[in-house]
Amino acid sequence: MLLRLNKIIEAPGSVPFEDTLDLHEMVIGAQRPVSEPVAASGVVRNVGGSQGVLELTGEAHTTLHCVCDRCARPFERPYSVPLHAVLTTEVAKEEDEWTFLLEDDCADLDEIILTSFLFGLDMQLLCREDCAGLCPTCGKNLNDGPCGCVKESDPRLAALAQLLKKEKPD
Ligand SMILES: [Zn+2]
Ligand SMILES: [Zn+2]
Repeated sequence: MLLRLNKIIEAPGSVPFEDTLDLHEMVIGAQRPVSEPVAASGVVRNVGGSQGVLELTGEAHTTLHCVCDRCARPFERPYSVPLHAVLTTEVAKEEDEWTFLLEDDCADLDEIILTSFLFGLDMQLLCREDCAGLCPTCGKNLNDGPCGCVKESDPRLAALAQLLKKEKPD
């Protein structure tokens, strides 16, 4: 979607926006987790600084539907990213990835939202940050609790168990 900003390029003011992106074909890892639309809203302001420089702020959110990269369990997770960009009518020397060029007094909202969306996304999709994964020996999902083979295969745990036994007077 193109947002027309001709009213605030030369004069102070603000233009609100809403945009919806369909990213269901986007592949992350081997998955397509963005099956729901991405809804974005915010405002573009002329903050009265240098001429022809506008500031865009807002937020984009969706719900990701994925399979955990570590334990292979399906899950869904709300995902939102802040939007922040500088819009200019001329390419500045110190241009960075958050500076976008206006064309015919219009901002390309889809491009700005997509850049922010990808920048904030983890390349590894986990059902939770501390996902315990699968036991390499028996294949049990360790988020459901430990399996029988972990204790015996880890000598550090065996040593710890010995220590605990000594400290407990019974
Ligand atoms: Zn997981
Ligand atoms: Zn196991």
